Amino acid sequence: MKEGGRKQGAMSPCAACKLLRRRCAHDCVFAPYFPADEPHKFASVHKVFGASNVNKMLQELPEHQRSDAVSSMVYEANARVRDPVYGCVGAISSLQQQVDSLQTQLALAQAEVVHMRMCHVSTSTHHQHKSLLLPQASNSSSENLSPSSKLAKSLFAMDMVVDQPNIGESLWSS
Ligand SMILES: [Zn+2]
Repeated sequence: MKEGGRKQGAMSPCAACKLLRRRCAHDCVFAPYFPADEPHKFASVHKVFGASNVNKMLQELPEHQRSDAVSSMVYEANARVRDPVYGCVGAISSLQQQVDSLQTQLALAQAEVVHMRMCHVSTSTHHQHKSLLLPQASNSSSENLSPSSKLAKSLFAMDMVVDQPNIGESLWSS
């Protein structure tokens, strides 16, 4: 059994054992999570946590949690290498700041939408009053028109007003 382990290890030591220059036993705790073709993973974990601490942490965990623990340690170690002062806390707080800033922008945009809708409603009714001032629909004559022709005239007037190129500005500026 030991022969087999040694033979296997001699063939391809895991990334951890290769870096530590030790024999990779058949029950090597690192071997399942630090394959030889990804040497940088163990290198950064070893640099930040130390091989014996990684070994201890893995031994203390049930096997089904070890893979997640290794992913987390590799992520944290890489973050610590990139940012020696804050590590992954730096990334977390920068992302939280982004979330806060985007939520503020979203709230402002939503408030603007509500504001625009209110302005649109008030300018629409305003234009209907304006239509009474048009030459073909003076105040006195429109009093005598039937409700349907009144509506037709005000719709027509609205079309006229909307056709003006600078109407957009007056719609949103008030
Ligand atoms: Zn190994």
